[in-house]
Amino acid sequence: MKVLEIDYDKYIYPDGISTPEAFGAYLLAHSGRFIEMRYFSGDNCVAPYYIEGETGSKFINPAMVSVFRECEVTVLSRGEYDRRLADLEKNRCVHCAKYKMNGCECGDNIRDNLCLDGKCWHFAADVDGAEYFFEKTIDNRLLLMV
Ligand SMILES: [Zn+2]
Repeated sequence: MKVLEIDYDKYIYPDGISTPEAFGAYLLAHSGRFIEMRYFSGDNCVAPYYIEGETGSKFINPAMVSVFRECEVTVLSRGEYDRRLADLEKNRCVHCAKYKMNGCECGDNIRDNLCLDGKCWHFAADVDGAEYFFEKTIDNRLLLMV
């Protein structure tokens, strides 16, 4: 689903609003008062995958929003997220170049370390000897570093 990213949090569009343009107009129309918005918690998941119902709410001052963007996230039920994570565990990290050497260092906490795309923080692609790895960003994504 499409969400709004503001200060690294992923917010659900307010009721009746479904485009960045309409949200911009909404902010302008509400300048001078705080608006309450719901966001997806990143506590038990790795972006861009989130868990249905694991949301919080924050009051936003429209005047303080200098930049926002729309982005795509995948929202799964807790059961579905856990099932996919458990499925991944069987083959976790085996496609990583580092895994062939010494196994992976991502440890037992796969909920925080393993994205549902199958790549953990330490993922390294086996391409011409170059090393790639991921770091977890402030907004809970795994960012590919070279
Ligand atoms: Zn790993």
